[in-house]
Amino acid sequence: MSLPSVVVIGGGVIGRTSALALARQGHRVTLVSKDDPADTTSILAGAVWMPVYAEPMDKLVAWGRATFDRLVPLATDPQATGVQLLRGTVWYAVDEPDLRWIEGAGDVEIVAGRAGGPAGAKRAATATLPCIDMSRHLPWLQKQGAAAGVVEERRAVSSVDEAAALADLVVLATGLETGALVPGSGMYPIQGQTVRVANPGGIGWASYEDAEVTTYVIPRIDEIIIGGTHVVGATSLEPDPALEATLLERAIALKPQLAGSPVTSRAVGLRPGRDAVRLERIGDVIHNYGHGGSGVTVAYGCADEVAALARG
Ligand SMILES: Cc1cc2nc3c(=O)[nH]c(=O)nc-3n(C[C@H](O)[C@H](O)[C@H](O)COP(=O)(O)OP(=O)(O)OC[C@H]3O[C@@H](n4cnc5c(N)ncnc54)[C@H](O)[C@@H]3O)c2cc1C
Repeated sequence: MSLPSVVVIGGGVIGRTSALALARQGHRVTLVSKDDPADTTSILAGAVWMPVYAEPMDKLVAWGRATFDRLVPLATDPQATGVQLLRGTVWYAVDEPDLRWIEGAGDVEIVAGRAGGPAGAKRAATATLPCIDMSRHLPWLQKQGAAAGVVEERRAVSSVDEAAALADLVVLATGLETGALVPGSGMYPIQGQTVRVANPGGIGWASYEDAEVTTYVIPRIDEIIIGGTHVVGATSLEPDPALEATLLERAIALKPQLAGSPVTSRAVGLRPGRDAVRLERIGDVIHNYGHGGSGVTVAYGCADEVAALARG
């Protein structure tokens, strides 16, 4: 008996990893997305592998672990895949930070005290983690999908019924905009501002979580992404120049090598927030959205679960 055909709605990291897993499982897969990959939230992500800023943490850690294992081999060709394995440190301004994420990671070293970090830091965790340049990884995923047989359409779908008419099974990977298709979807924006500077080379990732402004430094291949805020409910996509100046100053305090690196671009993105990730099958519809600040970190693990749900 042949496998059910599937239409995946959404062409961000969640839709593309789902489509790839399904195509490799043998389904006939169509991916429908109203936006080009370059216009998705996914392209704006840092992105460092770290299961944080989403729930439930036990599932995030399991999906994250599966994703980690999938990303590591891709780091052998960073120019093509955008994936690098980099050492870095997250500093915390509290004595007992939420360290649940480390269960999904490899070699994490927890250090008490400031550990050479910024003034006010009380604890640190150092680890080698995948850093994913989404400007390369998303196009790479698109090519992998095409090679596996995923057929792509660029248009908006206006209802789940419309999607259901296209295939036996529907996967909703529509991120923040899911509410237009699923009333009461529980989605809300978590705004994040970033600024990008030229990558001077030889820089690992870094992050400082304190009450003022969480600051992170995440290397892409040619740029460094400096962020960033987590403002629940804010919807503006306009960068705030004063905040950008603060972020740059704090990033240089973390990584003095960045002083003098020219700003290359800036962006504000809206993370697809939800009180808990929704990943479940109801009838012939598989829901896969609400990954907040962890979509890249958990995408491949979630895609494996989508493929399992499609098997019935
Ligand atoms: C500043 C910032 C930094 C981040 N840093 C990290 C990080 O370091 N690590 C990490 O893991 N995550 C990070 N994230 C979070 C991550 O980017 C998201 O969790 C992830 O991109 C969500 O992917 P998605 O595919 O669900 O959504 P999206 O990328 O938004 O994709 C949704 C897709 O659905 C399509 N769509 C929606 N409605 C319709 C419709 N009706 N018809 C057709 N198509 C439709 C859209 O066109 C789009 O293709 C960050 C996010 C931001 C903004």
